[in-house]
Amino acid sequence: MTDPQTLRDFHWMLEILQTIDVGLVVIDDEYRIQSWNAFMENHSGRRAHTVKAKNLYDVFPELPKEWFSQKVETVRQLNIRAFTTWEQRPYLVRFRTYHPITSTAEHMYQNSMLYPLMDTKGSVSFVAIVIFDVTDIATSKLALQQANSELARLSRTDALTQLFNRGFWQECLYREMQRSRRHGHTASLIIFDVDHFKPVNDTHGHTVGDEVLRHLGRETRKNVRETDIAGRYGGEEFGVILPETSAAEALVFAERFRKLIASQTIQAEGVELSITLSLGIAEIDENMKQVEEWISAADAALYVSKDEGRNRVTVSSQNR
Ligand code: GH3
Ligand code: MG
Ligand code: MG
Repeated sequence: MTDPQTLRDFHWMLEILQTIDVGLVVIDDEYRIQSWNAFMENHSGRRAHTVKAKNLYDVFPELPKEWFSQKVETVRQLNIRAFTTWEQRPYLVRFRTYHPITSTAEHMYQNSMLYPLMDTKGSVSFVAIVIFDVTDIATSKLALQQANSELARLSRTDALTQLFNRGFWQECLYREMQRSRRHGHTASLIIFDVDHFKPVNDTHGHTVGDEVLRHLGRETRKNVRETDIAGRYGGEEFGVILPETSAAEALVFAERFRKLIASQTIQAEGVELSITLSLGIAEIDENMKQVEEWISAADAALYVSKDEGRNRVTVSSQNR
C-alpha cells in the first residue's frame, strides 16, 4: 500500500502542476491529450475535459504537423528533451496576449520544451509539452532591435530631404565602384545643383529655401528607380548613383527629371516659385582609381551645364 506521505507528495505535485504559470500538456503516442493544466485552460479558453483524449492537431490546427511530429518522435525515441525558443518560432500554439503594458504584441511569445515521460515499464510513450510565456522578454528585445534599426536609419539619412546623407551616400558610391569592377557592370553618377538658389534664400528666407530642398528630396525619391541610390551631397547639391546604367541611359532619366522639376510650381509659406537644375553625368570607366575621380568627372560636367546657361544636362567629356 502507498504510504500517506507519498500520497500527499503526489497530491501536492499535481496541485503545483495544475496551478504553475507555465502551460503543461501531456500527449500519448498517438498525440491524444492526456493532461491539460490551468494555464492551458486560461489561455485557450478550453476546459480540460473538453480536450481530453482529443488529438493535439485537432485542438491546434495551426501547429505545423510535420515539424512538430518530428520533434516529438526524436524526444520519444532518443529519450531526450527538446527546446524551441520564440526566436526560432514566435509561438508553439497561438494564444492572445493580455499583457496590459506590452499590448503591442498580438500574441503570446513562447519558449517551449518537450520532455519524454517514461512509463512504469521503462519505455517512453508520453511526452510532456511545457510552454513558457516570454512575451515581456520578446517584446522588449524586439523594441530594442526596432530602436536600433531606426537609429541606424537616422544615422544614414539627411534630416531635411530624407535622402541618404553625404557620408552614407559616398560609402554607397565606393561600394558601387567596387561592384562594377568585380562584375564588369557599368554604372553612372548624376550630380545636380539648384540654379540660383542663393537668391531664393535672400528673397524669401531660409525656411522657404528649406522647403524647396524638401520638395526636391521628395521628387528625387519619387522618380528614381528602386535600385538607384540618391543622396544629398552638399547644401543644394544632390547625387544619384544609377547601377548598371550607361551615360546614355542616365541622360534619358536626367533630362526627364530636369524637365519635371522645371515644370513644377513649389508652394512654400504662401510663396509660389519655380526652380531649375543643372546636372552632370559621368559613367564609370576603368581608368578611374578612386571615387573622387568619378565625382570630379560628374562635377566637371555639372559645371559645364552651369557655364552654358544652366537648366541643362551635360555628359562628362570622358564618356564621349
Ligand atoms: P548656381 O546657379 O551657380 O548654383 O547659384 P547658387 O546661388 O545656387 O549657388 P551658390 O553655391 O552660390 O549658393 C548655394 C546656396 O545654397 C547658398 C546657401 O545659402 C544655400 N543653401 C545651402 N544649404 C542650404 C540649406 O540647407 N537650406 C537653405 N535654405 N539654403 C541652403
Ligand atoms: Mg546652386
Ligand atoms: Mg551649389
